[in-house]
Amino acid sequence: MIWIGGLQGAGKSTLAREFAYARDLPLHRIDAFTYAHVDRMPAAEPLDAVLARGAEYAADQWAAHCRDRVPLVVADVAARGAGDVPVVVEGPQLQPAASAPTGASVWLLTGSARTRRVREARLEGVDDPDARARIDGLAARELLVAERLRRDLAATGRPSVDVADDPDWSQIRAQLESVLEPALDGVTRLAPGADLAGQRRYENRATAYQLRSHWTAIGAAPSAFEFACECGRSGCDQMWEGTPDEYDAAAESDAVRAAAH
Ligand SMILES: [Zn+2]
Repeated sequence: MIWIGGLQGAGKSTLAREFAYARDLPLHRIDAFTYAHVDRMPAAEPLDAVLARGAEYAADQWAAHCRDRVPLVVADVAARGAGDVPVVVEGPQLQPAASAPTGASVWLLTGSARTRRVREARLEGVDDPDARARIDGLAARELLVAERLRRDLAATGRPSVDVADDPDWSQIRAQLESVLEPALDGVTRLAPGADLAGQRRYENRATAYQLRSHWTAIGAAPSAFEFACECGRSGCDQMWEGTPDEYDAAAESDAVRAAAH
């Protein structure tokens, strides 16, 4: 595994996607498995009740959640059929103190102002008043989570990259690559064709399940989302846009190909 952890709004998803797609590596976004994991996790107190008990308590609960969640992620990665190809795992749940992957790991850090802005931007145009009401509580939790993460990174000596308020993405990308590239020396990549297309399909199915579950949970109507192109060509970083139902129909006829092809 290659771990890309860090705080919300630090650009993890985009950077991990670019990194994995350019190198024909499987991509494992932990947040795409939230609903798939619900039944395998200990019963959780509702988030609003947790936040109501204060930031310290909420940060403790988050840490406990991460401890329970990461083993499920590791099991999923082992079961996804990527063989000996390293899987790029991305998510805020990855912790420096958790059992170390044999590959490489890096954490992206950011200031709380940026995290909040990104969270607000994600809710723009989304009909989710509960999520909007949680922004302050989550921001307070995030401050403590960030403090603890920095402390754990220092204690474990694991690498991190700082994402400034106005980030220079090409520089951040270069820093990330300089940490992770050595672990890829001589490793197997996904073979173009069926292997690569099959792994992107696995990722897309997880995304479709997550989206459907989330929209059902918040009572929102389905909308279009970006799925990975399943052309199987080496280095393809194109996306295919559609609703989960449109994705299912296209996958059925093997037609999940970016418009650019
Ligand atoms: Zn493609």
